[in-house]
Amino acid sequence: MDIAVILTYRCNSKCSMCHVWQFPTLQKEEITLETLAKLPANLDHLNLTGGEPSLRRDLMEIVELLYPKARTLEISSNGLFAARLEPIVKKYPHIKIRFSLEGSEGTNNRIRGEKNGYTRKVNGLLRLKELGGADLGFATVIQDDNVDEVVELFRFCRQQGFELATSTLHNGFQFQKTDNIPYDRIRVAKCIEQLIEEQLRTWEIKTWFRAYLNLGLIAKVTGLKRMLPCTAATDFAFIDPWGDVYACNVRPDLIMGNLETQSWTEIMNDRLAAGIRQRVNNCTQNCWMVGSARTAMRQSGWIEAPKSTPLIWVIRNKARITWGGRIPFENDIDYSKVYRDTLVPERVSFLDQGANRKVQIKDDLHYTHLGEFINR
Ligand code: SF4
Repeated sequence: MDIAVILTYRCNSKCSMCHVWQFPTLQKEEITLETLAKLPANLDHLNLTGGEPSLRRDLMEIVELLYPKARTLEISSNGLFAARLEPIVKKYPHIKIRFSLEGSEGTNNRIRGEKNGYTRKVNGLLRLKELGGADLGFATVIQDDNVDEVVELFRFCRQQGFELATSTLHNGFQFQKTDNIPYDRIRVAKCIEQLIEEQLRTWEIKTWFRAYLNLGLIAKVTGLKRMLPCTAATDFAFIDPWGDVYACNVRPDLIMGNLETQSWTEIMNDRLAAGIRQRVNNCTQNCWMVGSARTAMRQSGWIEAPKSTPLIWVIRNKARITWGGRIPFENDIDYSKVYRDTLVPERVSFLDQGANRKVQIKDDLHYTHLGEFINR
């Protein structure tokens, strides 16, 4: 199973597409080492995320506790406090680190609301490389404001020996946003096509499957059906800073239990969990979050192996690109059926704006008061 733990909702970025920084948690109420110790020991991928995980003063202790529990332990960070990760990378050079980066200096800083963010992230990741970090990369949220730069960002990452993880705009409780909609779905999708072609020109198998993952992003961006069925609550789960366990980070109604008061086995074997798996099967959201996409692409009994659909797509299209052909995107994406939005709210840059924050306390009503998080 893959698990993502949202260690905190405190964050020192001010992103336009994620407003969690406006609703920080109280440090003293955030998930404890004692609760995290209840996680099972045979996980595939365990992602420590936020908010900004490096704001947790006990991050090293958290890593020491969880590193042995997963085949891959990831820290998803904004990279603004990269120096805090240096002792972790020195001790665990194979830990996976991803810093959010949205493109060139101006683009990144505008989208993420980060003064000097680009320089701090790039220098920070280079420093982690010097220290021996073996699994380093950037993560970008593809959207109207950076999609022109994504191929260039991919090339930059390859030159530096870094990975590039991609996602796109979503509405979800983790982001406290219900209005993340692309301004121009077709333009964004067409630019992602170029990234896919670039990825298939490489000779890295992992990158070819990222190309398929990006095909799924086109389906999401255009409002078409998910490429593969979701396996939330079976193959992955999310835990929020109060220890509440959810099937995914989109739907707050898919709450399975609380790790502070229950054991992991109780939560996963409960009748409630069985009912939630049923609701996941019937979920009509057109989301393609990294967690749900990665797990949907792999075999359930043999997780290193891809399912036949992505495998065949990769083989066919790698061959086409290699022999100078083109990828027939129209076979998978019906551009005549792109979702038509009635209203697309503007996303605002908070780079030069002050920050209004309202602390969320444990006893508050979380997420549901914001309405539904719908993805088309
Ligand atoms: S498809 Fe539904 S259950 Fe699966 S991750 Fe998306 S919102 Fe959650």
